[in-house]
Amino acid sequence: MPPKPKYDYIIAGGGCAGLSLLMHMLAESSFRDCSILLIEKDAKQSNDRTWCYWEKGDGLFDSIVHAKWNKAWFHSNGYSALKNLHPYQYKMIRGLDFYRHCHQCIERFPNVSIVRESVVDMGQTPGGAYVQTDVDRYECSVVFNSIQLHPPVVSSDQYMLLQHFKGWIIETDAPAFNPNEPILMDFRVDQHAGTTFVYVMPLSDRRALVEYTLFTKELLNDQAYEAGLERYVKEQLQLSQYTVVEREFGIIPMTNYRFSPGEGNIAQLGTMGGQTKPSSGYTFRFIQKHSAAIVQALKQGKHPLIKRPAMDARFFWYDSVLLHLLHKEKMAGARIFSLLFKRNPIDRLFSFLDNESTLLQEAILLNTLPQWPFMKAGWEELTKPTRN
Ligand SMILES: Cc1cc2nc3c(=O)[nH]c(=O)nc-3n(C[C@H](O)[C@H](O)[C@H](O)COP(=O)(O)OP(=O)(O)OC[C@H]3O[C@@H](n4cnc5c(N)ncnc54)[C@H](O)[C@@H]3O)c2cc1C
Repeated sequence: MPPKPKYDYIIAGGGCAGLSLLMHMLAESSFRDCSILLIEKDAKQSNDRTWCYWEKGDGLFDSIVHAKWNKAWFHSNGYSALKNLHPYQYKMIRGLDFYRHCHQCIERFPNVSIVRESVVDMGQTPGGAYVQTDVDRYECSVVFNSIQLHPPVVSSDQYMLLQHFKGWIIETDAPAFNPNEPILMDFRVDQHAGTTFVYVMPLSDRRALVEYTLFTKELLNDQAYEAGLERYVKEQLQLSQYTVVEREFGIIPMTNYRFSPGEGNIAQLGTMGGQTKPSSGYTFRFIQKHSAAIVQALKQGKHPLIKRPAMDARFFWYDSVLLHLLHKEKMAGARIFSLLFKRNPIDRLFSFLDNESTLLQEAILLNTLPQWPFMKAGWEELTKPTRN
């Protein structure tokens, strides 16, 4: 029997991070001679999520952007504003469009193989790594993994909030939405369960995604999300006649647990690689930046296990401070986000949330927030023993 091929790269998990990395690789001619194996257990034929993110200029996935906006509303009790998002655009990609687009592109590359198998284990080999599935064992030089094989164990002094949301796509017979004006955050909803807001992404004048979102320690029962959505659509959108044509539910961990970037010849990607912003849950753009950095490292002949940049510690501290305040219920999320949106231009706020702001921008932004609770939480986070 001929020996089994050893791949250059194995991508374990073909969701957002695995497929993004592969697309970034295939956009470069230097990877077309590499043998790449993608291992994914699902067919990825359902629209299991919708990604929204802000971006300056064009992105690799612009051809499948379902909708994009140049301005957006922010609402809370006492403050409402239609924000011009320039130089950013807020973009939306449907999961199914993303999976199809990536697979159609990958089909054109004979150097990429795909197996639909379930990964059960992976580890190092001398000079490389292996992945064991329910069917076979595969070897390669480097594994890029976005699969959670072991759940993170969050210690008692780290925070774990859940960003959980239920969304409806609703349709109306008569025009009901301004397709140019999404609502990024609307805090004019009951806050008794914790930080709660709704966002509304209009897809036409008669169709919109309405998402009821919470940052809390516990999930709600399904009726509570449904009731929240119903109330919002009736009271804020003032709609009584509409049809719910799609539903989605999701949970994103918001934690300052330090996800490992990987070890040896196994590099971690996506949520498992710490690409979810702890204080916002946004992940899509961080995955794109991480994918681009990996490709850059590989092209330069460097090891693709990207070390956290030094400035990352600063942003991780900001994230921990915000999680601290929300987790310990020292300040309401509605108040924090209202002040951030009210007192900061979008450019400063988005670059801060993207971990791309300068120290000066951060000093100005932090000055727009109540000093005492932030300083106290900041000091407590700073003086905690460093973990992992
Ligand atoms: C409903 C929802 C909506 C979201 N919306 C946004 C948003 O608007 N903006 C944003 O920035 N972020 C959003 N996120 C957060 C984040 O962008 C997504 O979770 C993103 O999909 C994370 O990418 P990933 O590759 O780490 O995980 P996934 O996309 O979940 O990919 C992991 C892949 O591994 C596969 N897999 C798992 N176990 C195995 C196994 N044992 N063997 C083989 N394959 C396996 C899975 O089938 C999956 O395809 C959202 C998350 C959810 C859940």
